[in-house]
Amino acid sequence: MYVEIVFNIPLNKTLTYKKPDEITDSLVGCRVIAPIRGRGVKGVVVTETDTLNGNYTPLLIQKRIDLEPICGEYEFKLASWISEYYHTSFGEALFASLPAGNPSKKDKKVNPIKIKQQPYFTLNDEQEDALNKIISGIDKKESNTFLIHGVTGSGKTEVYMRAIKHVISIGKEAIVILPEISLTPQTIKRFAERFEGRVAVLHSKLSPNQKYRYWQMIRKGEIQIIVGARSAIFSPTPNLGIIVVDEEHETSYKSSETPRYNARQIAFYRAERESATLILGSATPSVETYFHAKNNTKIKLLSLNKRASNINMPDVNIIDMKTAKRSNIFSMMSEDLVLAINSTLDKKEQVILLLNRKGYSNYVSCSHCNRVLECPHCSVSLTYHKSRDIVMCHYCGYTQHTDEKCDECNIGVLKKLGVGTERVEENLKLIFPNANIYRVDQESVKAVGSYETIFDDFKNQKIDILIGTQMIAKGLDFPNVTLVGVLLADTALHIPDFRSAERTFSLLTQVAGRSGRGDKKGAVYIQTYSPTHYALEYAKNHDYKAFYDEEIIKRRENLYPPFSRLVRIVVRGIDEKIVESDTYKILDILEVHTMHLGESIEIVGTAPCVMSKLKKYYRWNILIKTKNQSLLKEFFTELRTSFAAQKGNYVEIDIDPINMT
Ligand SMILES: [Zn+2]
Ligand SMILES: [Zn+2]
Repeated sequence: MYVEIVFNIPLNKTLTYKKPDEITDSLVGCRVIAPIRGRGVKGVVVTETDTLNGNYTPLLIQKRIDLEPICGEYEFKLASWISEYYHTSFGEALFASLPAGNPSKKDKKVNPIKIKQQPYFTLNDEQEDALNKIISGIDKKESNTFLIHGVTGSGKTEVYMRAIKHVISIGKEAIVILPEISLTPQTIKRFAERFEGRVAVLHSKLSPNQKYRYWQMIRKGEIQIIVGARSAIFSPTPNLGIIVVDEEHETSYKSSETPRYNARQIAFYRAERESATLILGSATPSVETYFHAKNNTKIKLLSLNKRASNINMPDVNIIDMKTAKRSNIFSMMSEDLVLAINSTLDKKEQVILLLNRKGYSNYVSCSHCNRVLECPHCSVSLTYHKSRDIVMCHYCGYTQHTDEKCDECNIGVLKKLGVGTERVEENLKLIFPNANIYRVDQESVKAVGSYETIFDDFKNQKIDILIGTQMIAKGLDFPNVTLVGVLLADTALHIPDFRSAERTFSLLTQVAGRSGRGDKKGAVYIQTYSPTHYALEYAKNHDYKAFYDEEIIKRRENLYPPFSRLVRIVVRGIDEKIVESDTYKILDILEVHTMHLGESIEIVGTAPCVMSKLKKYYRWNILIKTKNQSLLKEFFTELRTSFAAQKGNYVEIDIDPINMT
C-alpha cells in the first residue's frame, strides 16, 4: 500500500510514500511524519493507492500522528480553492486550515466556564425586524448574506445570538468569528451564558492540544457553536447553518502569512457552498461590503440606527490643535479636554483616552546633527520606552540602550521627541494627581498578569482614566464611561494608503462608541491638526453614510476597490539591487501577458515599498488593479512555470491586500 502526502511547503504536488504494513486502517485525512531529504516532516495523507507510478521504491512513513482523520474531502476542496484563489500550494493552504495540536490523553478536558443564565434583553423594533429577515433567510435553506450596519451600542450581538439560537434549534451549527482583540472575557461570558454546554470559545489561551480536541468534537457534531478569531472560520462543522463575521471591516481577518487569506472571503465561500446564512456586522462596514449591500448585489442591508439603551449617541467635539489653548503642564492636552476630564471625574464617571502610539516618545533625535535613530533592520524610527530605558523597533522587536550623547557627531545630545502613551500617563498623573490612571499596553499587562485584571479593575471603577492605543477602542462595554478623548486623530490619516481615511473614520467611530453606553449621556473630544478632513467631520456626526458617499467617489475616480480588485506583489531580499532586478523581471512577464487586455488592467507603483526595509529585507512592490482577477491567470501560470527568484529573494503574492505599506 502507498500513500500520497502533502506538506506545508511551496510545492505544487503530492509525494508518494510506503504505508507501514502494521497500519491496516485508512490513513486518508491523518497527519503523519515522513522523510524529506533525510528529515522527518509533518504531512497529511490525501489518498491511498495500491499501484506505483514508475519503477522506484518509495520511502516508508516514519510515524503516524492522528489515530482518526482530522480532515477529509470537504477540507481538501476548501484547501484547493484557497490555493487557487491566493496562489499558494495546496499543502500550505491545507495546513493553514488545520489545528496544530496533537491528540493527547494527558490533556485536561476542555470546559466552558460554570455560569448562571442571564435574562434575555428585549429587542427593539429595529432589532426585531432585522432578526425576522435573517430567520426567514435561514428557513429558505439557501445561502443568504446580510450586512447588519448598526451604530455602536445598537445591540448587534443580541441579534446574532437569537439567529444562532434559531439555527441550532433546527439541528445546525454556527460559527462566530471576532477580531482577536474582541475575544474578551466579556464576550466569552456572554456566549457561554446563553449557550451553556454547546459552545466552544477558541481563544488564544487554549493550548494547541485543547484546540485539537475541540476540532475533533466539532467534526463529530458534538459542539453546535464555535466562537473564535480568524482561524475559527475553518471549523469542520458537519451541518453549517450560519456564519457571523462581527466587525467585518477588521483588518485582522486577513492573514499576514502565506496563504494570505481573508477569513471574510472564506466565510463567503463556505456560506455559498454549504447553503448557509452569512451575517456581516459592523458600525463602520468596509467600503467594499457597504457598496455591495447598498446595491443589493450580493448582500442584503439591515440597519440598526438606535442604541439599544435608547440613550442618544455621544456629542463629539473636534478640537483644532493649531489654535486650541493648551494645558501648561502638558501641551499635548488642550484645556478643553482637561476641563472635560475634571468634570467627568467630579461626577465619579470614567474616562478612556486613546493615542495610537506606544512607548514614551516616538522618535529620538540629535540636538546637533538632527539624526533620527533608526532601526538597523527596518526603515522606521526607533521608539523610546522609558520604563525599560531602551529604544525599540515596533516592527522587528530590535532594542538597544542609548547614550545621552550622539555617537555620530559626538557633539549633540539625543532628545526624546514626540509623545507616546507612556509619556501621556506620566503627565496625566501631574494634571490629575487624585485620579487613578492606568495605561494598557503589552508592558503594563505583563506587570499585572492579564488584560482581564485591568478590565475588571476598570469595570469595578478602581481605575478612573484608562489610556491606551487602538486596543482599547474596540468591543469594550463599560456603562460608567462617559468621556472618550482622542489625543491625536491624525496618526493614521496621512499614511500613504488609499484606506487611511476609512481606517481613521472607523477608529474614531469605534472609540467614540465607548462613551455613554449606559444610562448616562456620553461626550467625545477629538484633538487634531486636520479638523476639516472629511473622515473627522463625518465621525463627529456619527454619519457613516455621508462618509461612504464621499469615499466611494474617490474610489471610483482612482479605480480602487470596490471598482477593481487588487493584487500586490512584493519581492524581498537582503540585496537591494537583486530585489530590484527580480521586480523588473516580474514586471516584464506581467506586461507581456496583460498587454492585450488594454484598460482592464492597470499596473501602478513598481517601486520600493513604503516600508522599504523590514526585518533586514529590502522590499519592492508592484500593484495591479484589475476588473477581474481571472484576467491575470495567464500571467500567474507563466510566473509559476518560467520564473525563479534569484538566490536570497522571496516573492509574496497578496490577493486583495489590505496592507499597502
Ligand atoms: Zn549628532
Ligand atoms: Zn526593525
